[in-house]
Amino acid sequence: MPKAEETVLQIDLKALKHNYTHLRSKLKDNTKFMAVVKAFGYGSDAVEIAKYLQDLNTDYFAVAYASEGVELRKAGITAPILVLHPIPSNFKTIIENCLEPNLYNAKVLNEFIEMASAENQKDYPVHVKFNTGLNRLGFWENDVDYVVSKLKATNAVKVVSLFSHLAASEDLNEKEFTDSQIKSFKTIAENFINAIGYKPMLHICNTSGILNYPEAHFNMVRSGIGLYGFGNSDKENKHLKPIAVLKTIISQIHKIEKGESVGYNRAFISDGFYKTATLPIGHADGIGRQYGNGKGYVIINGKEAPIIGNVCMDMIMVNITDIDCKEGDEVIIFNDNTTAEALASKANTISYELITSVSQRVKREFI
Ligand SMILES: *Cc1c(COP(=O)(O)O)cnc(C)c1O
Repeated sequence: MPKAEETVLQIDLKALKHNYTHLRSKLKDNTKFMAVVKAFGYGSDAVEIAKYLQDLNTDYFAVAYASEGVELRKAGITAPILVLHPIPSNFKTIIENCLEPNLYNAKVLNEFIEMASAENQKDYPVHVKFNTGLNRLGFWENDVDYVVSKLKATNAVKVVSLFSHLAASEDLNEKEFTDSQIKSFKTIAENFINAIGYKPMLHICNTSGILNYPEAHFNMVRSGIGLYGFGNSDKENKHLKPIAVLKTIISQIHKIEKGESVGYNRAFISDGFYKTATLPIGHADGIGRQYGNGKGYVIINGKEAPIIGNVCMDMIMVNITDIDCKEGDEVIIFNDNTTAEALASKANTISYELITSVSQRVKREFI
């Protein structure tokens, strides 16, 4: 990886290919792969990630919101794109950009059918989501007849897939619950297919579902975090490579005497002699205040330097008292060795949150 000259998020596309190949190797040959590139490709860059994965023959893409799908279309992504969380005011945009909505409740189902009809669509591809226990988005098991009756009354849309989402696929203590979700999904799918008379694709697995529930891959899987290098367990992490390295440099070094303070609110008061380094990265770049006051750390010349005092908007100060370093030296926030998952755990959060928080102000560099 090239040396940082400012704060930069370096994305290793070879690692992305490795993760994609590893996850695909867990699937049967005819199981389709949907790459989840919502939230700027989990903070890395949705467009670059999707272009690269499209070239590797990824079957499908998923985004959370319509605007994210529009960005992909503008960048030349031609593979089908599922919009996981469409909102009625976006329906026209969805159709204009050939995006495929998740129909998750009666309002969305009926209003989308109305829009597709008004736009003279025939068999417009849609996906129907059922809630099997996450209680977030989706029709309920006993809504099947209602949904099918609405779909049978129109030829404006056609169901490409039925899907559901697991609540705790990464937690094997919840295996019984996950099994019950899979069972409920099978019942829903059977009833739906019998009633509608054709067979949409079925999918329920996210990354941890792929790894822990091979019997539930159905026709397609939806992977996000695994592509970016995290498998939600030490065992799975060994086979994946974090694709993003967040780096910065030392802007300034200070010598702090006993009794002096560092940063806003004088949150750190020195009990002796300290050396600190000021780094050009702060909470506006994605290092939240919860990492301050010794919780989070960075790596400088191979050594851990804890954050001192409060995280500022554009800067943090770190303790380099025992580290041999100078202004301009490179600083690692996370990489494939000191991972985002490890840093996130210091602030009681998860890799998903830390990597998606790296703000758009931070330059992305593709390697
Ligand atoms: C975000 C999301 C995924 C991807 O989950 P990972 O754990 O990142 O693999 C899959 N399905 C749905 C519905 C999602 O919202």
